[in-house]
Amino acid sequence: MPPETPPPQEDPKRVLLIEDDPEIARLLEAELGEAGFLVEWAPNGMQGLVRLREDPPDLLVLDLGLPDIDGAEIARRAKQSGDVPIIVLTATDAVERKVQLLLGGADDYLTKPFHPAELLARIQVQLRGRSTGEVRRIGELEIEVETRRVRAGGQEVALSPKEFALLELLSSRPGRVFSRDEIVRHVWGKPLDSGSNVVDVHIANLRSKLRDAGAYGYLRTVRGVGYALRKPPA
Ligand code: CA
Repeated sequence: MPPETPPPQEDPKRVLLIEDDPEIARLLEAELGEAGFLVEWAPNGMQGLVRLREDPPDLLVLDLGLPDIDGAEIARRAKQSGDVPIIVLTATDAVERKVQLLLGGADDYLTKPFHPAELLARIQVQLRGRSTGEVRRIGELEIEVETRRVRAGGQEVALSPKEFALLELLSSRPGRVFSRDEIVRHVWGKPLDSGSNVVDVHIANLRSKLRDAGAYGYLRTVRGVGYALRKPPA
């Protein structure tokens, strides 16, 4: 009898697996792949961080004991640059360590050895938790963080991934002015050429898309400092 194959998901969730043990990685890749996830494997911390920056996954499975960078440090950096759910794989059973991990930004942990089915269940819990969906409402703007949908006055606004990342950052704290450096770090994840006007170009595009949808005055430019999102006066 052929093995049961689950129906293909319409929008497969992407899991980044940072794990230096190729045997565990292969096993998890196979199990998660079979469950309908798209798994990307990074065999060390450096490659993992690059993946996280360049193509943020829906969920991160992170081995703590990596050859190059401490997993806890990776969890910290991942949470700094976005709100990706993190499940940590740890070899230690020490309660103290686990408390530290959870405080440090991990959403859940598994102690090795574990059964792949247990990881699968925990991944589903994390993703389900997210899919209840945070919706940010600022004036007539509605920003669905998880599904990356933006509406203005009920009308859908189609944004590029970078434009969305920009809006997502600014809307995380309405009114706060984000410096160009902060924006570059969050949205591009790496330094841009000095003198690059790419931030201004994306702000201008975002502003014009919002304006086309009837949402005026949300993006505020603070000369010499940066940008903020605010609710315009009625
Ligand atoms: Ca390891």
